Amino acid sequence: MPALNRVLIANRGEIAIRIARAAAGLGMESVAVQAPVDALSLHTRVATEAVEIQGPDGPDDAIGAYLNATAIIEAAKAAGCDCVHPGYGFLAENAAFAEACAAAGLAFVGPPPAALKLFGDKVAAKALAASLDIPVVPGGETPLTSAAEAQALAEAVGYPVMLKAAAGGGGRGMRAVHGPSELAAAFERCASEAQAAFGDGTLFLERLIERPRHIEAQILADAEGTVVHLHERDCSVQIRNQKVLEVAPAAALPDALREALLADAVRLARAAEYVNAGTVEFLVLPERGEHFFIECNPRIQVEHTVTEQVTGFDLVEAQLRIAGGASLADLGIADQTAVGAPRGFAVQARVVARGAGALDAYKEPSGPGVRVDACGYVGYAPPPQFDPLLAKVVGWSGTPNLAIAAERTRRALDEFHVAGMPTNLAQLKALLADADFQAGDARTSLVQEKPELSAAVDTAANGGALALFRQQARLTGTGAAAFRSAASSGGAAAATGAAAELALAPEQQPVTCATAGTVVEWLAEVGTTVAAGAPLLVVSAMKMESVVAAPCAGVVAAKQN
Ligand code: ADP
Ligand code: ADP
Ligand code: MG
Repeated sequence: MPALNRVLIANRGEIAIRIARAAAGLGMESVAVQAPVDALSLHTRVATEAVEIQGPDGPDDAIGAYLNATAIIEAAKAAGCDCVHPGYGFLAENAAFAEACAAAGLAFVGPPPAALKLFGDKVAAKALAASLDIPVVPGGETPLTSAAEAQALAEAVGYPVMLKAAAGGGGRGMRAVHGPSELAAAFERCASEAQAAFGDGTLFLERLIERPRHIEAQILADAEGTVVHLHERDCSVQIRNQKVLEVAPAAALPDALREALLADAVRLARAAEYVNAGTVEFLVLPERGEHFFIECNPRIQVEHTVTEQVTGFDLVEAQLRIAGGASLADLGIADQTAVGAPRGFAVQARVVARGAGALDAYKEPSGPGVRVDACGYVGYAPPPQFDPLLAKVVGWSGTPNLAIAAERTRRALDEFHVAGMPTNLAQLKALLADADFQAGDARTSLVQEKPELSAAVDTAANGGALALFRQQARLTGTGAAAFRSAASSGGAAAATGAAAELALAPEQQPVTCATAGTVVEWLAEVGTTVAAGAPLLVVSAMKMESVVAAPCAGVVAAKQN
């Protein structure tokens, strides 16, 4: 019997649904919170009940609602909750929030505030790792105070270097610098991006590791000091330092290297007096047998699913039980031996919306070895203010061959029918079919080295079941339009009509940026020929950056901020 009975879920989207399911599996009730713009979002219906909360700037402050610690804690108390699960992003790594929960008598489903503080500062985390003789990426041991200091340190470390935000996360606030002439400008942009995204512009600098793999260890720890790992994940397939495909366990990794990084992760967690689930991330150079600690994420991760599929453990259930006072022995994993070896391979693909719209048609894949953690349904119009993650599609196989799990995931994506908004499905399928990926040798530079992978256009969508779904969606009309107008009175109404201000020739098609925000980068200048799905620009809105993609092949005719 769980010690906790009712959890407030301080998040939204697929992870809020995931947490509600884990709670139900333990016989607990759950209370969802929703910004007004999320009134039609699925997480509000999967939980036992849902409560509206608002951000400090009122009903249109969508992100602010999920960052409103006071409102969330009040909602938890009013709804009779005894604990709060923060998911990932938003308040998940906020030590002050964890402290406020404790002060209100609510168990925080995560590590103690001290661990959140430590790992919220990458410089402090690296210092702890170095003190334990865990290899860290060479670079400065203290935060930078000026561009001039960065310049001097970069000379000492040797170019290329990486400038990084001490408080960074989600691939934000970092920049590669290839020579002294780039440094001052990079320092300024990086600091201001970090300030805007994390409220803290502190930067540090480290050597740029070239063509590494990103490999991370999943840790579970209890309040008695027992720490185990649930093996590792390979998250080397990234775009702009953000994970796109994730694999468990890492394929084609020398055993000695695997054992060394897993042991280092456990040692680090122990030294930090870590409790609950966490992830220790490394950059790895397999040919040199080297691994370098980069950061620890003190929360559930987006890609925890692949670990669950190969180990058989439910990590979110484990989080709730540990928060309720259970020991690892109570969970049946009193020591590392009890965890056992991973079975086969699991691969997760992050399906994201590449523009605004409503889901006119939506059918998730299923079948043996296929898992979908998602928040879509026919008619749903994802509020554009939030992270565009629509679904995580996981394919796994007990066969000790990554290519089989990769192909299973690719075929599942072939069966994923999403209409009404552009997605990255075609790109994910191209990545899953990549020979280096299937051989377990993807590097974080994969997409830069093979730009054709990101330009992939869907070709498989013509036949069979998908054609039937399309035909039926047309025949029945699905009722999506009604949903769309209802939902757009909230989030989508905030969309800027930049294209409406451009004069269009009859053969031209407008590309409207869905969110009111600022353009971070134009990726295709006027006159550039682009393929359908090609990235056109990066917009930063409500602390999130997203890519606006071309809806069709053509030539960029005009642009307007
Ligand atoms: P975040 O907190 O945003 O997740 P990380 O420090 O974990 O940031 O880095 C995210 C990704 O950025 C890494 O997986 C890697 O691809 C790239 N990266 C970070 N630091 C370096 C580095 N020193 N050299 C090369 N790549 C790096
Ligand atoms: P994971 O490490 O679980 O793979 P990501 O780095 O992809 O997670 O981030 C998951 C979500 O959390 C994204 O929406 C990202 O923007 C957000 N996020 C991650 N770290 C932070 C942070 N330090 N502050 C704010 N948001 C964050
Ligand atoms: Mg990271």
